[in-house]
Amino acid sequence: FVNMPADLGVLIDAARRHGDKTFIVEGERRLTFEDVFAWRDRIAPQLRIAKGDRVAICMRNRAEWIVAFMAAVKAGGVAALLNSRGSPDELVAMIEEVTPAVVIADADRAARLREGGYAGRILDLTADANADADGDAGGAWGNAGGSLPVQPAAPDDPAAILFTSGTTGRVKGAVLTHRALTTGLLSMQLSGVMVLHNMARKLGVEPETLMSQMPQQAVLLVYPLFHISGLGSAFLSPLFAGSKIVIMRRWDANEALRLIRDEQITMFTGVPTMLWDLLNTARLEDADLSSLRNVASGGQALPVNLLQAIRNVCPAAQMGTGYGMTEASGAIAQAVGEDFVRKPASAGRVLPLVDVRIEGPGSEALAAGLTGEILVRGAQTMQCYWNHPDDTAAVLSEDGWLRTGDVGYVDEEGYIFIVDRTKDMVISGGENIYCAEVERALGELPGITECAAFGIPDERLGELLVAVVVGEGHSEASLIGDVGERLARYKAPGRVAFSSETLPRNAVGKIDKRALKARWNELIGGPA
Ligand code: ATP
Ligand code: MG
Repeated sequence: FVNMPADLGVLIDAARRHGDKTFIVEGERRLTFEDVFAWRDRIAPQLRIAKGDRVAICMRNRAEWIVAFMAAVKAGGVAALLNSRGSPDELVAMIEEVTPAVVIADADRAARLREGGYAGRILDLTADANADADGDAGGAWGNAGGSLPVQPAAPDDPAAILFTSGTTGRVKGAVLTHRALTTGLLSMQLSGVMVLHNMARKLGVEPETLMSQMPQQAVLLVYPLFHISGLGSAFLSPLFAGSKIVIMRRWDANEALRLIRDEQITMFTGVPTMLWDLLNTARLEDADLSSLRNVASGGQALPVNLLQAIRNVCPAAQMGTGYGMTEASGAIAQAVGEDFVRKPASAGRVLPLVDVRIEGPGSEALAAGLTGEILVRGAQTMQCYWNHPDDTAAVLSEDGWLRTGDVGYVDEEGYIFIVDRTKDMVISGGENIYCAEVERALGELPGITECAAFGIPDERLGELLVAVVVGEGHSEASLIGDVGERLARYKAPGRVAFSSETLPRNAVGKIDKRALKARWNELIGGPA
């Protein structure tokens, strides 16, 4: 581990040794590791980029996404991961942030980009006649591939940019370096090794014996690949481990159950809403979940009874949870198996290689058990927000501490408990929605004089985004439709209430969302 290179390209290349094991399953397609590496080698030279150029990737989850990412890294580029669900305006805003040399998009997204006014280069790998990777040359891409010269990366070189909206409501890209991503992966691997050692001790065998007896792991990919969990735990980790990735094009609980049985899925990691859906599918009774060894959830608070219910339907699987953040390359804390069962309300134990500091109102470090803002530090934190030094300085201190905007405490044993958020963000079905963004979209509509967006508790989604507006000329349905067109559809409020009075303000003149939240039932129940 000590000699592990802080170069994502070197790590990715090392996975080629998995050769003819199955790597990607997607519908009828089955690709081995070698198929995917050969495909990448054909694509990388076609990018025609210089070292450090951004390569934007804009596709839904599919094999081409994985090939595009690997090709971008191979060619010395920085992969900028666009939200595949973004509206035309949002996609173009992300592109303008990072000015990529090329965008790799599928036909649908390419059309959306053109609609948004993007006039630059677009490559569509799905038009590659070798999309079935049967090894033959030809098609739109020809066979000009061959090996690219090695493009060694320095640890501080950016490797990927992931987007977040932030409290300003303006999109910005979190820059993750080679060191950050490789360290994030390493800390997850280390935590996995620790779990393996515990299991081996319990069974009274050597960890190596246990390892050698393990069949190839199979991961069901349900997270969007442009999210840090999708990128890290659902793609890069399985790539290094030689696991099979089974791609679901879109979330569907019945289809997930079928794939778990047919593809003998061993690891399922989803947001709590997905676990909830699995439990509520009509076909759960005939499902065969016996292949599952790990079931985990994160990205959002996990109700304790939900995990208990999942445990009941797949008792053989180890349950897990995690706490993470894009700006920290994913996982900050994790708990698996025994650890988790013992403290189900915790979001996990702080991972090796990550430092956590709980800060009080006077910026002082708080002792175990005391609640304050959570700060994290370590090689895995982001370098900056691309081209936004002020936004960077607001969350990243000079001595490396990253403000998470989460509030919580760490107990005597190093388990972290999340109790609140200071950032004005709603997490609905695992997707982050920054309220400022929604308020801006609402506020731009004619006739709207005031508005506020916030979350209310929702059993399935965790939180449901709702809004209160003051203004004329709109109906609830038209407002929901208008926001869903300007922004990604999932950012549209679930309900909108109209207020005939101006919205309450606090002492500093900001809309008092706590007061609105407390009055939500009355506001939505009253006449529009
Ligand atoms: P992904 O969306 O790829 O799964 P993530 O949710 O860990 O990754 P972000 O989408 O960047 O990362 O969101 C980070 C925020 O999500 C945290 O700051 C926190 O507010 C919230 N969050 C993540 N995990 C948990 C958790 N286990 N419990 C409560 N909140 C969480
Ligand atoms: Mg998230």
